Amino acid sequence: MLVRKAIEVSGIVQGVGFRPYVYRLAGELGLAGSVCNTAAGVSIEVQGQCAEVDGFLARLPAETPPLARITSLSVKEIPCNADREFQIVTTHQGEAVQTLISADVAVCDDCVREMFDPADRRYRYPFINCTNCGPRFTIVRNIPYDRPFTSMSGFTMCGACQAEYDNPGDRRFHAQPNACATCGPHIELWNVEGRPVEAEDPIAEAITRLQSGQVVAIKGLGGFHLACDATNAVAVRTLRERKRRVEKPFAVMVRDIGAAERFCEVEAASRQLLVGAQRPIVLLKRRKNTTIADAVAPCNRVLGLFLPYTPMHYLLFADGGFAALVMTSANLSEEPICIANDEAVRRLHKLADCFLVHNRDILLRCDDSVIRVAGGRPRQMRRSRGFVPVPVFLRDDLPSVLAVGGELKNTICLTKGSHAFLSQHIGDLENAESYGFFEEAIEHLQRILEITLQAIAYDLHPAYFSTRWALAQSGTPQIGVQHHHAHIASCMAENHLEGRVIGIALDGTGYGADGRIWGGEVLLADFAGLERVAHLAYVPLPGGEAAIHEPWRMAVAHLVRHFGSDFVRELPLVADVPQKNLNVLFGMMEHGINSPLTSSCGRLFDAVAALAGVRRTVNYEAQAAIELEMAIGDSSDESAYPFDLVAEGKGWVIETRSLFEALLRDLGDGASVGDISRRFHNGLVEVLAEVAIRLRAQSGLERVCLSGGTFQNVYLFERLCARLRSNSVQVFVHSKVPAGDGGLSLGQAMVAAYKLDQSRVSG
Ligand code: ZN
Ligand code: ZN
Ligand code: FE
Repeated sequence: MLVRKAIEVSGIVQGVGFRPYVYRLAGELGLAGSVCNTAAGVSIEVQGQCAEVDGFLARLPAETPPLARITSLSVKEIPCNADREFQIVTTHQGEAVQTLISADVAVCDDCVREMFDPADRRYRYPFINCTNCGPRFTIVRNIPYDRPFTSMSGFTMCGACQAEYDNPGDRRFHAQPNACATCGPHIELWNVEGRPVEAEDPIAEAITRLQSGQVVAIKGLGGFHLACDATNAVAVRTLRERKRRVEKPFAVMVRDIGAAERFCEVEAASRQLLVGAQRPIVLLKRRKNTTIADAVAPCNRVLGLFLPYTPMHYLLFADGGFAALVMTSANLSEEPICIANDEAVRRLHKLADCFLVHNRDILLRCDDSVIRVAGGRPRQMRRSRGFVPVPVFLRDDLPSVLAVGGELKNTICLTKGSHAFLSQHIGDLENAESYGFFEEAIEHLQRILEITLQAIAYDLHPAYFSTRWALAQSGTPQIGVQHHHAHIASCMAENHLEGRVIGIALDGTGYGADGRIWGGEVLLADFAGLERVAHLAYVPLPGGEAAIHEPWRMAVAHLVRHFGSDFVRELPLVADVPQKNLNVLFGMMEHGINSPLTSSCGRLFDAVAALAGVRRTVNYEAQAAIELEMAIGDSSDESAYPFDLVAEGKGWVIETRSLFEALLRDLGDGASVGDISRRFHNGLVEVLAEVAIRLRAQSGLERVCLSGGTFQNVYLFERLCARLRSNSVQVFVHSKVPAGDGGLSLGQAMVAAYKLDQSRVSG
């Protein structure tokens, strides 16, 4: 029987080869009809025999192009007509306005094959792309996603490219960045003065320089990288010195998956991430005795690897024969990554020896994403290139809110309907360049999403730049959200939860409702509010910021609190500290001078790390905690340091006196750092599980959400999940957005949107 069906598809279905895909599928099944872009997505009509039409409906969502993502699909029966053929209707009217822009995508296998084919017209062309691959988000100036609104607008397609672009059967049909060597962008090698270097092949020249140990700034998809040979210790050390980056690990781009497996242990889930179209940096357990220079990630058992993702990367590896290149964001310390050619020369001329640039502008910077597999699943650590601006899909429609995030690892979030659009990684707002980027990201996301804001959500910390920015916006209601409430709300949002949950939020710093610095918190929370039911005991943070950079101060703070200053004076921990300085420190804590109180879990890790001898000072955020975790060796020892639960109000204070007594006893007995670290981690798991289980009994709540940067600690994360689940607790964790402050803006947006909805109901 002949039938005709009308199908409406929405989601990421424009600019991703969706119409040619539908065209081919219909052709294969011998169906007549049409497909066209609409304001809401894609509209399809198919006509044919029942069985074929059903086949079409079954295959349509199952075999979509790699970049497409269907969020809704509706089908209805309509009357048949005289159609014999299937056609792509190319009306630009009302196109693309409501639909989602794709993220940037690694060059696809088909394009790589063509690029290395001497017979292909794009042989060795470093900007080859198609509807399935290439730049998207980073070259978009405005919507709709159409060439005139991208940084390809200055390049007019040659006849051959235009023919591909216009042909519905071609895999470059409406591929907006389509180009070739005749009509498209090209590469140059520049010296440190920004002048082109005379070279027949800029890539060959860049390779020669990399091989000789130079640092080359390479323009990529979302910004510049600083590159050097990862197996050349001198080159890596040079890059460290110039970048003023003492110990923080560098990311390494490896030639292929085989190279990745030689350098690191790559299990199935990580392998999938490495070869996937998003090409994030994947954190992997490092193998011993590889050719990677130690200076790439000193004191670190984990290495961040990623595979080539632009055609230029492929050419560099193929021609240069490198196994691995350091590819670190081109910036000074925590400033934003460079994107423009002249900007790169201006900011990086002391860091790089030369610049491999091109003339396709990056309109929006986007750092590499960082992912780690924990508990068998991918966990975002930094959600950026390849993922932004694909939204986090929410359970319900929400009012449109802008959430401005925290201070470090900042991201912003805009909600529209049932979509939450998180920005790319913006960075640490305390530096001026990042702050500019923050404002730019807000402006850009708002423009491409066409959002009318109903409220702005911000962190309660009065000194955060994001907070001050939010409070300076007049005319839009502003809603403050407590830091750890936002963490738990973020976890609830990505898991589509509603109602009240038990929330365990662990991190370094978050402004508390009582004005103190929280960070070791157990909450009863929903989107409407939070009740703090347990927290780590308050200790002074002697010297404020200084205590964060010098973990030994935290050890002193904890020990003085439990055992007094005379006891601490005798410890090897402070043997190198002059008595005078020590007295000042004691005095500060005693009189509460520049010693804010904190319940931070991160600072507790610092104290334990310093006492265990892992490190007394740190060079980057969370370094002591990271190295303490890595010190845990393989052992079946399940012993745990005890914590004490002291009743307070309806809940408890988690006291650490017994923990430190046991730890000091172990130190006296000469226990290894690994044993101390494991027993500390195990103890923390035990006490948190104990609190959660008691709370479940008290409250009847079955669901526990884990959030906050401390949960990037894989040992703690996996152990606590397992411990809770073995007690039949339903555990919810992050996967799509970072557990750390990179995921904060999502939670802020949820809480604020909920508040707006409530006031609308009651008002
Ligand atoms: Zn391609
Ligand atoms: Zn061309
Ligand atoms: Fe946090």
